[in-house]
Amino acid sequence: MHAQPIIGYNVRMDYDAAQVTERPASSRRANPWPARLASAGVVVLALWLLATLAAFADPILIPPAATPAPTPPEDADDLANFAMRRQALTRPRLRTYIVQDGDTASGIAARFGLDVDTLRWSNPDLEEKPDYLRLGMKLVILPMRGAYYQVRAGDTLDALALRYGVAITDIVEYPLNGLKWGSPLVAGAWLVVPYGTKELSRPHPNPAPGYDFAWPIVGYVTQHYSAGHPALDIGAPYGSAVYAARAGVVVYATWAETGYGYMVLVEHGGGYATVYSHLKGAWVSAGQSVARGQLIGEVGSTGNSTGPHVHFEIRVNGVRSNPLGFLPAEP
Ligand SMILES: [Zn+2]
Repeated sequence: MHAQPIIGYNVRMDYDAAQVTERPASSRRANPWPARLASAGVVVLALWLLATLAAFADPILIPPAATPAPTPPEDADDLANFAMRRQALTRPRLRTYIVQDGDTASGIAARFGLDVDTLRWSNPDLEEKPDYLRLGMKLVILPMRGAYYQVRAGDTLDALALRYGVAITDIVEYPLNGLKWGSPLVAGAWLVVPYGTKELSRPHPNPAPGYDFAWPIVGYVTQHYSAGHPALDIGAPYGSAVYAARAGVVVYATWAETGYGYMVLVEHGGGYATVYSHLKGAWVSAGQSVARGQLIGEVGSTGNSTGPHVHFEIRVNGVRSNPLGFLPAEP
């Protein structure tokens, strides 16, 4: 830990300054310099021990489910990063992060031990398009999963708690909010909603009677099938529900290194399979049976993707075929 010697050095400097300027001469005489140095050493040691304990003690104020405690990195270059994440766990305060070249929403979220939703729900510019990061953009980083909300005229704590699925106490008693029981909300003020989540948009596609497959989401085609892109890209807002296009068995529901990001592959029998990729996460697991129209994931932008959409494939005996040949005209 590089930080500890620095802390100890600062403490010793402060202590000496206090000795020289604030203690009366009589007490300095009664306390000769070797003794003062020794007692300074004891104080420094005690503070160092406290700092060490504080750094490694389990955070008491933050429920453990909030973010898994990071494991110490093996690479020395990650030490500063690790200390930053550790601090975010133990000390509730807002941070600002300035977007740098090469940053991604998921990368920034992971760096602070958060998820992309928290980043979206605390930065309105990112809510619909978390990948539209601009260089130099300032992002609010919450100390835990949740949302950051600007109060509007007419808002009530009841309504906010209901909207974000939290208890009123969670909002009122969160130290950074500076609220008191019974005091009204002030329009324009920002509130941290610890562990708050927003409702997701879940329009259900047409069940498509008479067709073998249904659309997996309600959206619009952003890229058609071609030799170079043997799939259909269907754009929809981040977090929209993704449904199984046909009944079957989940074969993969996993992070794919191939650029698919989170992907689900369902086999339907008769040589048919469907693939849904760039998901925010999978809601099903391998081996699970799914019905047509069953929720299997949410629209994300994971993997090699430039915006929220589902890269949807229909495979016939392993050959990626044009999904439009199997789907009704409208989702
Ligand atoms: Zn695609």
